[in-house]
Amino acid sequence: MGFLIGLVCPQCKFLNKWGETICQRCMSPLDTGGSIPIKEVQIFHINKGGRGLIYSSSNAFSISIGRRGCDISFDQDMYLSLVHARIENSIEGLKVIDAGSYNGIFRKVRGSTNLRPSDVFICGAQILKFLGVLGRLTPYILPDSTVFYGSTIPDGEYLMVQQILSTRKMGNLYLKPAPLTIGREKADILFPYDKFLSATHCSITATENGFTLTDLNSANGVYIKVRGSEPISDGDILLMGQELLLIRIIEKN
Ligand SMILES: [Zn+2]
Repeated sequence: MGFLIGLVCPQCKFLNKWGETICQRCMSPLDTGGSIPIKEVQIFHINKGGRGLIYSSSNAFSISIGRRGCDISFDQDMYLSLVHARIENSIEGLKVIDAGSYNGIFRKVRGSTNLRPSDVFICGAQILKFLGVLGRLTPYILPDSTVFYGSTIPDGEYLMVQQILSTRKMGNLYLKPAPLTIGREKADILFPYDKFLSATHCSITATENGFTLTDLNSANGVYIKVRGSEPISDGDILLMGQELLLIRIIEKN
């Protein structure tokens, strides 16, 4: 219940606004004793030239973010869908929900995060898709038993990372054994032209439990695409379109 904003009914679990004394669904009395600290969510627009604090509420809420007609609108940002995202409060805590946007919502990686095949992530100005493991190559046999003439690579597990271009087409495909690094100067996958990348920016490692994406203390951070809906907590930074939003959850006394 760490990020709860509002009062949960002990009978029916409905999330009520602060200040209610009886449940607005089942009319049970609510515990309004002074022991529960009131929490407030704050959203800061932290781009260069951002607007600072743009939203705050200490009550049960659902907030829409997009290009037009939303609780928070950025009408100049053509990378945003009209309704792009929602931030919702529920008894499971605060979560961010992709409202069916074209370009997705990205969350800044704090240290490391689990990475799954088909995840999309951003480092510098590169938008990259992790395609998983290539695995061992088995020669392709054509119908008349001819063996297909294709490149071979050394045995071992190779990770596949592909660039997504602004034309909406896929760019270069990179095949590198794990662990791999991505950066501008010293890395396995290099983008020398990308001034927003650090020399060695991030890494992908293979573990027993899958794959891990790690920010190697880069200057501009690494962002991973939100898979549908995910819990968010104090200090999370969300990138949608060209807007950077910092989420704070403050205890009010
Ligand atoms: Zn109730």
